[in-house]
Amino acid sequence: MKLRLAHLYPKLMNIYGDRGNIMCFERRCRGREIEFELDELSIGDAFDPGAYDLVFIGGAQDAEQRRVVDDLRDVKGEALQEYVERDGVLLAVCGGYQLMGAYYRSADGGELPGVGLLDLWTEHPGPDAKRFIGNVVIEWEGETLVGFENHGGRTHLGPRARPLGSVVTGFGNNGDDGGEGAVCRNVYGTYLHGSLLPKNPRFADHLLALALAGENGDVRLAPLDDMVEEQAHAEALRLATRRSIIRR
Ligand code: GLN
Repeated sequence: MKLRLAHLYPKLMNIYGDRGNIMCFERRCRGREIEFELDELSIGDAFDPGAYDLVFIGGAQDAEQRRVVDDLRDVKGEALQEYVERDGVLLAVCGGYQLMGAYYRSADGGELPGVGLLDLWTEHPGPDAKRFIGNVVIEWEGETLVGFENHGGRTHLGPRARPLGSVVTGFGNNGDDGGEGAVCRNVYGTYLHGSLLPKNPRFADHLLALALAGENGDVRLAPLDDMVEEQAHAEALRLATRRSIIRR
């Protein structure tokens, strides 16, 4: 088996170690003797909708989002749409997540059009608004995902998106409705940095299995030794819930 991964704008859209998610995919493939192929696509590079099993885009501040937005829509937008219609798997974090929606209104009031792969929109109330910063725990399919969020934008889901999970501690999409992240088809968006996947190995495997299923049918991933990952998860969970108790 082979996993073909596209990393969008690895230099521009990469904060809080989002690249760690790529390393995690690679490690979890190589540990199972699944071939791993990585393409880094930046501004000006075309996206071939038939060439990948998995796509990743990380987070960034408003300035970097502004730099990639035209390319995302005009150069890659249509091909990404086709990829998603073929049930391609995509993971988007924070600033990248915001750009998967209809639009992101940034802190200065300017509107950045998104690619519309997730039914959602995001508005930043302005430079004086409270930023949503801190450790997050969400409930996802009967277990927990841990991460770190830092965003000013408030994301609201339309009827064709469902939240990835529900907030246990932290702010999530908008600090209001208890939802975190979004899922439409095989497109996953979340505010969780961390980076996300190394501390949530079961979520990483969920995405991997989904991605490999496209070419290989139902895939059963062999278990890996996740002792370090599980310890990191448990520690993040402990810190996040302890802080939330102190805050009250
Ligand atoms: N610029 C966005 C916001 O502040 C996203 C920031 C991020 O990716 N951490 O809402």
